[in-house]
Amino acid sequence: MRQMFVAGNWKMHGSKAEIKSLVTGLNALSSRAGNAKVAICPPALYVDYVSRSLSASNIELGVQNIAEEPVQGAYTGEISAEMVKDLGCQFVILGHSERRAIYKESDFEIANKVDTAIKAGLTPILCVGETLEEREAGELESVISTQINAVVEKVGINGFKKIVIAYEPVWAIGTGKTATSAQAQEVHAFIRGLLADYDTDIANGVIIQYGGSVKPANAKELFSQPDIDGGLIGGASLVAEDFMAICEAAGE
Ligand code: PEP
Repeated sequence: MRQMFVAGNWKMHGSKAEIKSLVTGLNALSSRAGNAKVAICPPALYVDYVSRSLSASNIELGVQNIAEEPVQGAYTGEISAEMVKDLGCQFVILGHSERRAIYKESDFEIANKVDTAIKAGLTPILCVGETLEEREAGELESVISTQINAVVEKVGINGFKKIVIAYEPVWAIGTGKTATSAQAQEVHAFIRGLLADYDTDIANGVIIQYGGSVKPANAKELFSQPDIDGGLIGGASLVAEDFMAICEAAGE
């Protein structure tokens, strides 16, 4: 039985004042998550500040990126997986489409970061997803397979015991366009099938979140699909009431 899991990706948003108000709201509403696991991923610079303000013991912490390099060293501007772990985080979002598109992170680099994260004891939230052009060109399955197989090649199928996958169609991120629950379910089932070709038990156990304009109004329908195990939430995770309403839909 997979536990529903909702994670908030704050992206590059927030100030101390804004975060204080958001975390105060999350603390007050955290019991709405019921049985769902919940995590928030603030900008790394604010993780310690969030952690000191967070009294809700059922909300875990993550970050949105780590360095590829497995050890500390002369990597100006980078943050290591071990530092993230040291600050009390459990999760790291990797392979987000914004990192792939804006920062040109390749499948190879992302796979290396997944490996680094696992070795440091973090749980990677591995984002995969197709652009609208790829979907319309009939390339959805090959794009997702390439993204997943690059990670299997690096960490082996056993690595997926420690990985959460987030299926995020790029055309649905921050656009207000959500995949229908049927479209999302179809891809989630495809991803599970892909992993099942390597190992059925691991495929059945892996949590696959949906991400892309999830809102309180559509969360319940998405989360009722058999292969959707929660969500990775961008915009709506910046509003405590909306985020906890989404968590509530997952925790019912
Ligand atoms: C995201 O960036 O991971 C995301 C899903 O964003 P949004 O919910 O705003 O579409």
